[in-house]
Amino acid sequence: MKILSANFVKSAVEPSHYPAGALPEIAFAGKSNVGKSSMINVLAQRKGLAKTSNSPGRTQLINFFNINDQFSFVDLPGYGYAKVPEAVRKHWGPMVETYLKERRELRLVIFIMDIRRNPDINDIKMFRWFDYYRIPYLLALTKIDKISRNQTVMRRRVILDSFKRPALTPVLFSAKTGAGRDELWGEMEKFIFEVRNNNR
Ligand code: GDP
Repeated sequence: MKILSANFVKSAVEPSHYPAGALPEIAFAGKSNVGKSSMINVLAQRKGLAKTSNSPGRTQLINFFNINDQFSFVDLPGYGYAKVPEAVRKHWGPMVETYLKERRELRLVIFIMDIRRNPDINDIKMFRWFDYYRIPYLLALTKIDKISRNQTVMRRRVILDSFKRPALTPVLFSAKTGAGRDELWGEMEKFIFEVRNNNR
């Protein structure tokens, strides 16, 4: 994918704030600190596009980015950030579920897990929503540069077993080395340009 332009559009909490227009959307979801912003920046080839910071303010919103005037990246709020107040944390579920349920432009969710961590209750909840609302998703296991190849094979198996989806094919990714970038783009392009989700 040749990136000609990549711009932040706006932040939203509810559907009336979502940008108008019918560009197809690829959403990114995962626990706080999993490497979501880094992945978006690597894919868009823009270092500061999605903030790679732990500031809970901005990360508790749904952030929309316009790429090439052709499609949008949607950065869904991370979960599990310890310093987020309970009141904010409570909004996370309804905010994300509403987006997944109602956003007709959504084509694919890139669901990101740190390859070194086991799925928690919120990770499992995300998978349930994908199933329930019939949302196409792709599992990306990130930070693979932090472990050996042998450990990568082992961790991949453990994570797929925990999700009870042993046959899933995750993309193995590293924002540090760029591993998995082309594979991820290849998959995303299928959903942006070819596959239309007729289930919704
Ligand atoms: P977010 O909260 O999910 O948006 O996570 P960030 O993108 O801000 O990343 C959290 C931390 O993990 C930062 O210190 C990043 O530099 C680091 N990080 C993200 N992706 C990778 C990766 O693939 N490899 C390594 N080694 N570090 C990463």
